[in-house]
Amino acid sequence: MTSAPTRDAGVQTEAVTCCIAGCGPAGAMLGLLLARAGVDVLVLEKHDDFFRDFRGDTIHPSTIEVIEELGLLDAFSAIPQQRIDRLEAVFDSATAVLADFRELAVKHPYIAFVPQWDFLDFVTDEAKKYPGFRLLMGAEVLGVTRRGRRVTGLRYRGPDGPREVAATLTVATDGRDSDVRRAVGLTPVGYGAPMDILWFRISRRSSDRKGLFGRISSGRFVAMIDRGDYWQAAFAIPKGSDAELRRQDVEILRDSLAKLMPFLGDRVGELRSWADVKSLEVQVNRLRRWYLPGLLLIGDAAHAMSPVGGIGINLAIQDAVAAANLLAEPLGAGAVSERDLRRVQWRRWLPTVVTQGFQRIVQARLLGPVLQGRAVDPTSSPLRRLARLGFVRRLPARLVGVGVLPEHVRTPKAMEPAGQPTFDGRPWRATERS
Ligand SMILES: Cc1cc2nc3c(=O)[nH]c(=O)nc-3n(C[C@H](O)[C@H](O)[C@H](O)COP(=O)(O)OP(=O)(O)OC[C@H]3O[C@@H](n4cnc5c(N)ncnc54)[C@H](O)[C@@H]3O)c2cc1C
Repeated sequence: MTSAPTRDAGVQTEAVTCCIAGCGPAGAMLGLLLARAGVDVLVLEKHDDFFRDFRGDTIHPSTIEVIEELGLLDAFSAIPQQRIDRLEAVFDSATAVLADFRELAVKHPYIAFVPQWDFLDFVTDEAKKYPGFRLLMGAEVLGVTRRGRRVTGLRYRGPDGPREVAATLTVATDGRDSDVRRAVGLTPVGYGAPMDILWFRISRRSSDRKGLFGRISSGRFVAMIDRGDYWQAAFAIPKGSDAELRRQDVEILRDSLAKLMPFLGDRVGELRSWADVKSLEVQVNRLRRWYLPGLLLIGDAAHAMSPVGGIGINLAIQDAVAAANLLAEPLGAGAVSERDLRRVQWRRWLPTVVTQGFQRIVQARLLGPVLQGRAVDPTSSPLRRLARLGFVRRLPARLVGVGVLPEHVRTPKAMEPAGQPTFDGRPWRATERS
């Protein structure tokens, strides 16, 4: 269990079994799974709350299945959400179905749109029911502590000043600009992207079409996400053009939108200035090595994902499930070897490479040419012939909705939420699995 803080060279230090830097989807889910398996966990989050606009809000069939395996499906379904069962692209000449989740053999064939802050509150509220879980908000990780090559914990500035935490295992889930990654000198390999994204909101009327669709015309691409009373719009622009665009009047964006989607013509004025528009610099990268002795990196800290398909959150959660499955037992025994950490990377390497490969093909073959002004015709005969093959037609839905090697919760519920052990209170051992 967490030890009482001690004072070391003027900085208070405490000890936990697992310390997690960053409470995004990966950190929150890993914290829940480990605490549920009887491991004591401290999660440090630099913000005071989870409220961040325009974040990954797409909960895919793979994640919904994990939620069901945790026995939380009813509670999850009670969160206000929109559901869509297919992705469509509206070209100048035709409308094409890019992915139809109803064709998948899964229990929950839809994407649920849940604001990320609601989702993180949901996961951490559940985790807080376990006595081994602690979340410290407003705690910014500043660096790692080491003994020789081994990472032994984290340095952070919390609400009460500078602190250190010593941990059997430190996990970096602090996102694509990971401070922990920088502190240990790991650098991801970048694979480039032809675009950046502008995010904004436009009101939605009941007479508008429903669901999620992409509008594609030469030179422009926008994804429209139905959020009930408003549209969340992701407008693609050529890589690196954001600053130049913002030097012009926001009218230029309003005009583009009105031309692309005439039904929004009388609403584009809701974009009053560039302050209403947020920018996302798209990155696709991944680390060659996701671990050092005593340290594991997962989620965006190990591999930043393109927004294509809205897969980032779901891959981060799959990483967390795999890490908990493979590490709960060594953590319970009080020692995590490099071999244990390597197994997590090996398990998650293929899904990451395949998913990023799929995103890079869509970027290179569809979005890049569109942004360069080239016309893409979905009715061209090679595309039509390919789409006639059921396997090919189902592939995008499979990659987006389920992914490669979907993870399932293997860690048991070693503790009841109230803190009562479900068997004899000892940390879980794989040999005790039924
Ligand atoms: C604008 C935008 C839109 C996106 N849209 C989608 C989408 O629609 N669908 C989708 O699936 N993905 C989307 N993504 C990507 C998705 O959000 C990420 O892939 C996913 O959130 C990764 O989860 P994570 O837990 O690894 O990292 P993050 O979600 O980035 O979480 C990292 C956490 O660490 C905290 N942190 C950072 N530094 C420190 C520090 N030094 N100390 C303590 N805490 C720290 C951060 O505050 C954050 O809470 C989007 C990303 C952005 C930026």
